[in-house]
This record gives sequence, C-alpha cells and structure tokens, in this order.
Amino acid sequence: MFPPLAGRKPSGATLAAFRRALLQWFAAKRRALPWRKSRDPYHIWVAEIMLQQTRIAAVIPYYEQFLERFPTIAELARSDEAEVLGLWSGLGYYQRARNLQRAAREIVELHGGKFPRDAEVARTLPGIGVYTLAAVLSIAYGKPLAALDGNIARVLARLGAVRSPLRDPQTRRKLQEEAQRLLASGNPGDWNQAFMELGETVCTPRAPRCEECPMARWCRARGMELQNEIPTKRILREGIRVTLAAAVLCDPRGETLLLRSPGRHDAVLFSRLRQFPAIEIIGDMRDGVREEAKPRATTQIRNYLRDELGLPKLLKKSFRQLPALRHAVTFRDVVLLPVLVRVARLPRHSEGEAVPLQDVPHMPISSATRKIARAALTALAGSSNQARN
Ligand code: SF4
Repeated sequence: MFPPLAGRKPSGATLAAFRRALLQWFAAKRRALPWRKSRDPYHIWVAEIMLQQTRIAAVIPYYEQFLERFPTIAELARSDEAEVLGLWSGLGYYQRARNLQRAAREIVELHGGKFPRDAEVARTLPGIGVYTLAAVLSIAYGKPLAALDGNIARVLARLGAVRSPLRDPQTRRKLQEEAQRLLASGNPGDWNQAFMELGETVCTPRAPRCEECPMARWCRARGMELQNEIPTKRILREGIRVTLAAAVLCDPRGETLLLRSPGRHDAVLFSRLRQFPAIEIIGDMRDGVREEAKPRATTQIRNYLRDELGLPKLLKKSFRQLPALRHAVTFRDVVLLPVLVRVARLPRHSEGEAVPLQDVPHMPISSATRKIARAALTALAGSSNQARN
C-alpha cells in the first residue's frame, strides 16, 4: 500500500529514513500545545477526549479550566456531574464529559486512581475507543500502539494513493495495519503526534502544502498529482430535516421552566441535558422556516403545554413567536421554532425545574437550548426597551 513499501517488504534503511524525516520535522515544527507540556496520562486523556470533533483553538481554554478545577483523576471522580457538565458547557457532545467522569470513578475504584497501563484493561473504561487508547498509552507510557484518527488516515491514504473511502471498514482496517507497521516503536508517542501534526498543519484536508512536506519524496498521491482528489469524497448522507417547537415559559419574576427529560422528540437533539419544553412538529414542515409554518407550530406546542404540562388554556396573546433558528446535529438539519409564552405561574412537573431565564445561557445545556434562551432574552430586552420609550 505504502509506495516505497508497496507489494514488497520495505528495506530497513527506507523505513528508517522515512521515520527520521517525520520525527525531525516534528521536533522542529511541533506547536506548543498545553497538553504537550505533560506526560501525565490523565492530562493527555482529557485533551484527547476534548479534541474529539472539536478544534484545537476551541479546546485550549476548556482544557486549562478543566484541569485547574480537577487537577487529578480523584478530584474528577468525586465531583458532581452537574459541575463537570458546567465546565464542559459550550464544547458540545456532552456524553464525552459523562464518560470521562464515569471512567475516572472506575479508575479510582478499581485501578488505584491511576490510568491503567494495560491496553486490555484501559479499553474497558467508558468512552475509551481504539484511537484514544493508542494516543494515551503511546504518549504517556510509550506503548507501541499506532493511533489512527482522521488526520493520520488522510495522510496515510495520500502517501499510499488509497482511493477507497476512508470510512469503509476494510480500508480503515488496512490503514490501521499500515499505521502500526510504520510506527517508530522506539518513540511511539512522538510518532503518533508527528503524524497528527502533519495532517493538521501540512497535509490538510483541502490544498495540502506538499512543498513543505517532509514525506513528499515518498508520497504516491503527490507523484500522481492526486493529492487534491484523495481521500475520495464520501457520498453524503442526505440530512434529515427536523422541525421542533420549543416553549420558553416566562413568569412575572422572569423565571422559566427547564425539563430534565425530552419532550416528544429525539433526546439527542438537546444533548440529553436540561432543555425547554419542546416537541417535534408533525406534518409537512418542509416549509419550516417560512412564516406560514409558525402558527402551526404554535398550535401544536399550545396543545402540548395544556395536555402534558397541565398549563391552563392560554390566550393567544400570551404566545409570541420568535425568529426561527437553524441548528445542525450530526446528519439532522434542525429548524427550531421558539415561542415565548407569558404565564402567571410556571406549571409543576416532576421532571421540571424553575430557573431565572437570564441564567440559562450560562448553565450546562446544549448549544440549541442556549440559542433559544438567547433569542428569548433578546426579545424580552426589546419589549422592555419599547415599553420605556
Ligand atoms: S506530499 Fe502532500 S499529499 Fe503527500 S503527505 Fe505530504 S502534504 Fe500530504
């Protein structure tokens, strides 16, 4: 697969030159990222979990704040989930934070508070997949495990001019084998990081900078002028359109109701965190963002508030439609139709909690809930300015 090695066993000298070129490049070009100051497995683990699906620049402040509050696995294990989620608030994919804490508790209970060195044992921890396992164990403990993330897979595919889609399980398996074969086993932590760094800074998804690349002489895609065609584009799954109406109840004290369980919709849409009462709008809502769709949403959410939250029949003027919001969750294209509802008293609900509306954007909630809260606060601020003028 890999060019100088394709179809035959590579000579030791070729492999050595290849490894030396990448490691020397990394030694000269490595970025000073906060998690690179440490070999503590806990620090590396937290960074790797935060970096999943998230840009480095976005992760840095969260990483620093998180470790300041939870400097050890033991501190994380004995903290409240709400506090952990609070520090994670804004990073998204909250299941990562929940798993991190569950794993910390397991490490304290079963492994003496130390991240396990044994790959078989570490693999059983919540949220630890093959990639995270290899990254943490190679960087922290020098275990000869090749990590294969999206960046490394792309670089390997270009080096070998692999044209099958990277998500194809067979291709993935072959790339994993290739990564393991190329691994500089004397320095696996730096090797894995060097490959990732190359993918992040030089062999980027678009317009790779081959002229700066330490691997250019071995790169088959470059030789064939295919670097911009590889990896093969995935056929994108068509996004599913979901339309949700969400009710921001507001009582005279400025309090609103958040629910701990989802309404009539997929729980994943609000990251399984506290949320405003919401329902998926039934019926043909392809016109979800159009003005004429909003009254339909208001009628359905009104019925929901009456039937499931026990709100007495409210006058039409208690409802104010807010601007529609777009929100993307994995392959779902969500249209949010928020409605501000003035109530004399918030309903009581076993899964509900009354909180000041102005505090909601600062709570551990999904970004969709935050968008809705901000839209409601903007509308309320607009109304009170109008009343004053
Ligand atoms: S030569 Fe270009 S395509 Fe090949 S690995 Fe380097 S940056 Fe990527």
